Amino acid sequence: MRLVAHDFAEWRDQARTLYGRGILPHEVQWSETEQPGLFGDALSEPAESNRLQISKEFIALAQLIACHRNPQKWTLLYQLLWRVKHGEPHLMKVVTDPLMVALHHMQKAIKRDAHKAKAFMRFRLTEEDGEEHYIAWHQPDHLILPLVAPFFSRRFATMRWTILTPDQSVSWDLERLTYGPGVPADAAPQSDALEDLWRTYYRSTFNPARIKLKMMKSEMPVRYWHTMPETAMIPSMLAEAPERVEQMIKHSEGMTQDASDYIPTDADLNALRAAAQGCRGCELYEEAHHTVFGQGPESARLMLIGEQPGDEEDQRGEPFVGPAGQLLNALLNEVGLERDEIYITNAVKHFRFIYKGSFRQHRSPSPYHIKACKPWLQAELAQVQPEVVVCLGNSAARALTTPGFTMKDKRGQWLSDAPWTMASYHPSAILRSEAYGDTRQRQLLLADLATAKAKLAA
Ligand code: SF4
Repeated sequence: MRLVAHDFAEWRDQARTLYGRGILPHEVQWSETEQPGLFGDALSEPAESNRLQISKEFIALAQLIACHRNPQKWTLLYQLLWRVKHGEPHLMKVVTDPLMVALHHMQKAIKRDAHKAKAFMRFRLTEEDGEEHYIAWHQPDHLILPLVAPFFSRRFATMRWTILTPDQSVSWDLERLTYGPGVPADAAPQSDALEDLWRTYYRSTFNPARIKLKMMKSEMPVRYWHTMPETAMIPSMLAEAPERVEQMIKHSEGMTQDASDYIPTDADLNALRAAAQGCRGCELYEEAHHTVFGQGPESARLMLIGEQPGDEEDQRGEPFVGPAGQLLNALLNEVGLERDEIYITNAVKHFRFIYKGSFRQHRSPSPYHIKACKPWLQAELAQVQPEVVVCLGNSAARALTTPGFTMKDKRGQWLSDAPWTMASYHPSAILRSEAYGDTRQRQLLLADLATAKAKLAA
């Protein structure tokens, strides 16, 4: 009998059926791929198959072995199942049995491969429709992606990312993992801004006080170096090591996770605005000129929340005073809303950008920045207590809803009623789309502002 199993679930279902029909291990040939005319016999389900009880230890081992690249794995697992169920219930503990030796050898190889994937995976930044997406390409020895993907979903829970391997791919959309087909190596981005980011991160985590050269060489196999931008920096970092040890000691004081440590208690809007000038809740303050806090009356009934200040806002220290702000003023005028009566702010109070020559090119804040800055937005909401809030763009809506919010399905709908909150397009997005002759987003924002005005009147 010839059978095909692409993964553990397929093997398990077929093994159950084989066992129920009393088919001996040597009577089955397993494969992972269909070969016309050779493999793929159909199995009919016998009534007895449901009686098979398998221990948790067996399942755990079989799930690991299923990640091995050697197609013999299915044969070995069925042999193990057969023997455990036919007079050798303790076989899994007999470490000298040749079958167990072979399986343990495979298990060790998979665990080592999974460890290497966690240690040497390098994500590169890409941007899609203004959304940051991190992509890593990795070539594991075995089919370990389902083993390591949950680890990355926990570690990088607030980033959208995809891992590509030649066998399989997996994506994290901030809520769930989705598996897809594998891709060739040349489909992955080879060099971009993420390399600088990663080098900065690596520099910050590289601990010169604990250099173990021998171990570095044995733990960083040369085959992974071409996907690891930091390897080029190791010689210079080693040279700088003594100085950096001292810097690390100084630097380890005063670190914080978000803005909450900088927010004074019982402060009014003016006191909050003053305190925000000294915020060090994330690294964005380092390159920007000003903290751009919200503007408008404390008694405002309508609050507009944008993404983050742009270049002009950063230079002047005021929100929505650049081209997007001028468009917003025009739209408010058209709808009959007075800007002076509205409280206008941003989800993130510092300008995030990268230098392109001397030009500062906007980059959307990451989920990490939105989260770090959220205490300021919450403090503004608590002070102003608006009746209606309009989030302009995905980042603002994500600050008030979920990190996975997208405008596509929820624009213009009331997302909550305390205060009444909706999301619409950011004026910058309208400027970009109008550059291509598309005026739909302008019409939709106008309609949403009119809805907000009607809600205030009601
Ligand atoms: S972006 Fe927000 S959290 Fe980060 S430093 Fe500026 S004010 Fe603080």
